[in-house]
Amino acid sequence: MAMPPAGEQAPGVYRLKVGGFEVTVLSDGNLAIHRPAFAGDAAGIDKLLDAAFLPSGPIPTSVNEWLINTGNKLVLVDAGAGAGTSFPSLGKMHGNLAVAGVDPAAVDVVVVTHMHPDHIPGLLGPDGQMMFPNAVVHINSDEHAFWALAQNRSQAPDDFKVFFDLANAAIKPYADAGKLQLFKNGDQLAPGMTAAAAPGHTVGHSMVRVSSEGVDFLIWGDIVHCAALQFAEPDRQIAFDSDPAMAIANRKKVMEMAATDRILFAGAHLPFPGVGHAAKAGSGGYRYVPLTHAEHY
Ligand SMILES: [Zn+2]
Repeated sequence: MAMPPAGEQAPGVYRLKVGGFEVTVLSDGNLAIHRPAFAGDAAGIDKLLDAAFLPSGPIPTSVNEWLINTGNKLVLVDAGAGAGTSFPSLGKMHGNLAVAGVDPAAVDVVVVTHMHPDHIPGLLGPDGQMMFPNAVVHINSDEHAFWALAQNRSQAPDDFKVFFDLANAAIKPYADAGKLQLFKNGDQLAPGMTAAAAPGHTVGHSMVRVSSEGVDFLIWGDIVHCAALQFAEPDRQIAFDSDPAMAIANRKKVMEMAATDRILFAGAHLPFPGVGHAAKAGSGGYRYVPLTHAEHY
């Protein structure tokens, strides 16, 4: 029977079990990253990207968020680009949350890994009000201080100033309602969840360690922006890093730890659903091993 093509991706929702917790990965859509955004020798970059069959033009890059159901609490990590985003292929997380059957009002905690425009504006609903009216929003104190300082905004390049505006607008209603809580490295964010600082991409970029019934899971945020490039060569830097040397050092440290301890991790910009392991590769780099899809988990 003739049927027109759907022409767009199906909802992006993926579930896995971590001990007694259920984790739901929610897609916010895709972001296009241009090859020149990756620093270093272009020939070396092209070689790795071509080997991964990635396009010579903009590279579609997943943007993922996570909902953790502890049994008692619903914890969302990152909020996506939001309904009002100027990125045409982002802002799908709210819809995917609905597909997952979750009422935003039931979310107790939102942890923000960092305050970039693909991670925080989705704290707001389409009307500019709190999308998660009953949630406390947790942000690293250094991260919050950086984006709150007007002097940092005025010193930023013009096309970067909107990052400050979006970040501050997203947290305002929560702060006004006394629902903004700042954390430091190692603080507990919710039962079984602690903050693990991994700065460099931004000043206070933080990962979330999830642990339940002896099973560990690391939500590593923006440690990687392109799996095809940065596992093999973790020295590769993306243009948006606030402190490139620190971002590289932390990427290596986190990958080494994940490979050595065989920890399952999830990344905001790993291809959806973006959950897997890191294996050491001969060259001193690593190999990304995505988790096998499981119908029953
Ligand atoms: Zn990001």
